[in-house]
Amino acid sequence: MIIKRCHLALLLTLILFSKAFSQENLSEGPFEQLIIRGVTLINGNGAPPLGPVDIEVVNNRIKSIKVVGYPGVEIKTSDRPQLKAGGKELNCEGMYLLPGFVDMHGHIGGIAQGAEPEYVFRLWMAHGITTVREPSGRGIDFALDLKRKSAKNEIIAPRIMAYTGFGQDSDDPINTPEKAREWVRKNAQKGADGVKFFGAEPAIMAAALDENKKLGLRSACHHAQLSVARWNVINSARAGLTSMEHWYGLPEALFEDRTVQNYPLDYNYNNEQDRFEEAGKLWKQAAKPYSDHWNKVMDELIALDFTLDPTFNIYEASRDLQRARRAEWHEIYTLPSLWDFYQPSKVSHGSYWHYWGTEQEVAWKKNYQLWMTFVNEYKNRGGRVTTGSDSGFIFQLYGFAYIREMELLREAGFHPLEIIKSATLNGAEALGMQDEIGSVTEGKLADLVIVEENPLENLKVLYGTGAIKLTDNNEVVRVGGVKYTIKDGIIYDAKGLLREVKEMVQAEKDKLNYQFKQPGMKP
Ligand SMILES: [Zn+2]
Repeated sequence: MIIKRCHLALLLTLILFSKAFSQENLSEGPFEQLIIRGVTLINGNGAPPLGPVDIEVVNNRIKSIKVVGYPGVEIKTSDRPQLKAGGKELNCEGMYLLPGFVDMHGHIGGIAQGAEPEYVFRLWMAHGITTVREPSGRGIDFALDLKRKSAKNEIIAPRIMAYTGFGQDSDDPINTPEKAREWVRKNAQKGADGVKFFGAEPAIMAAALDENKKLGLRSACHHAQLSVARWNVINSARAGLTSMEHWYGLPEALFEDRTVQNYPLDYNYNNEQDRFEEAGKLWKQAAKPYSDHWNKVMDELIALDFTLDPTFNIYEASRDLQRARRAEWHEIYTLPSLWDFYQPSKVSHGSYWHYWGTEQEVAWKKNYQLWMTFVNEYKNRGGRVTTGSDSGFIFQLYGFAYIREMELLREAGFHPLEIIKSATLNGAEALGMQDEIGSVTEGKLADLVIVEENPLENLKVLYGTGAIKLTDNNEVVRVGGVKYTIKDGIIYDAKGLLREVKEMVQAEKDKLNYQFKQPGMKP
């Protein structure tokens, strides 16, 4: 009887476990002492790789970083930090250690996408993302609740900085500067970390940004096309906006011979194909790279300490729809609801390929070149560029898309070390968290990423699916994938997290008897 009861308990436990997807032992710590041994450190401050290094963590903070030898020479044990009773050692000899990544544009997942936090968070953490700025989502209360749970490490999740969509939960329209200020004050009282704007009347934007700045909060803006004719990125930056998202509103700040983009006369903003197709022709209507006006706008933005968060990846389907659509991870890690959401539709935002062909893709490739030229030069002149993904739209999957963003920064002209800086310290600075996170520094929080391969050599090793490699024996293998993500001194098995996501997706498919297929294809 006792044995039977045990069996029943075990069975129940297994059922519960498979439902909650959090049962495998995927995390350990924090520890009174954790020593990570023998890594090559790729820091977030632009410093070149350095190793072998032993890193000592006490609870959730980095206590010491010690160089313990030379490449190719056996490490002398006498020089290494000593393990104390109850301490934990992680032998990472030959591996690479980086600061935890900051995703500056991470929507936790919308109801329309059917992407619940436990799915999204695992994908992020599995890709080394230990901090996320949520630029509005399912409401500030929802985000703040998750933020608190994450701060206490009650859930597997990155640190969350929660920005509220401007005007959210306001009973009546915000149509006076005073109402704008009042909303901003209330938002701060609620405990939000900032405000996400989409554009508004100039007087409202000016008042809201001014009040927000006085309160010491930060801000982000997606300058929607409906408002850019009278208020573009330069207006926002002068009024106190701290970061711009994507790219809209920037070409408008660079216009010289027009005040609105050259819209076709039968354009309709609510037609998604119109919207994205014409956006692809926008950069060439702006001042030419390195022209006086282009230089002037760039230099002023940099002088204002303004952050660019380009989210290159989220528009990639515009220049190569097939690449985004056929990414190898979709079939394993993309939820059916998310896949459905991505399909061409007159209704879903961003599902704009009503008839997306060669002409649209080529125009977008040229659009990207001009955009990337601006972003790269902005970085070269000392401007801050961050790494943000905006996943959950347009075939971009949480976590994976963040790594793709790094690859696109590379394409824009960033050195891989500049990319790591953009993904870590720059994000921390843009959030005002540079004293706590963003680099591997004694005294900072222990948010770390460990990977077996050198990500500077090939950023693809950071993808959960790894990078393809042919061995000396002519065998095709996958290398990389983040091995450990450490947040607050807690070690997460990154590949285990991905396994759980895979199981979640498979369970959904089984439940729905779901056939994964490409748009418009008959079985
Ligand atoms: Zn967004």
